Amino acid sequence: MKLRYYADAEIEEWHDRMIQSLEKINTDHGIPVEIVRIDVRFDPITDFSGEVHHQAAATVYERDFIGNGHLTANIDRTPTSEFQRDIDVAGHVAVVDNGVKWVSTLQGDAYGHGPGAEDQTPIDFLLDVAESPSNRICVDCVELLDGDEKFCPICGSELSQN
Ligand SMILES: [Zn+2]
Repeated sequence: MKLRYYADAEIEEWHDRMIQSLEKINTDHGIPVEIVRIDVRFDPITDFSGEVHHQAAATVYERDFIGNGHLTANIDRTPTSEFQRDIDVAGHVAVVDNGVKWVSTLQGDAYGHGPGAEDQTPIDFLLDVAESPSNRICVDCVELLDGDEKFCPICGSELSQN
């Protein structure tokens, strides 16, 4: 499993916060992280502990989203209606395990989006995982979690509370 940030987010503050969170997730929890820059807006990313790739938005969209049944199941709406245009993928974060399993569907953080947005924004997702991966995800089977489970409902792994 790894976490992937489709960069660059529209707003530099979001971009910086996501990179910082990814760095913390990698350092504190040993989860691999990567950045795929499909729309470069800001400075070169140096001194990042994961891989940084540059790819075309259309290539990434076709590879990761088109016909992806996991996404249809996990994000309620179909990827094609959620990401109408290739460029919309920039600024989002994905959970990747042999393909994209989950991706954020709102930009930035929950501020301004209204109730329930924390489940869908990339920044809130990364902050939760940085605090403790089991807030959002079972690292053993890559199942998305609500955050209050003691055991993973899919594989039965005990979820650490640290
Ligand atoms: Zn599990």
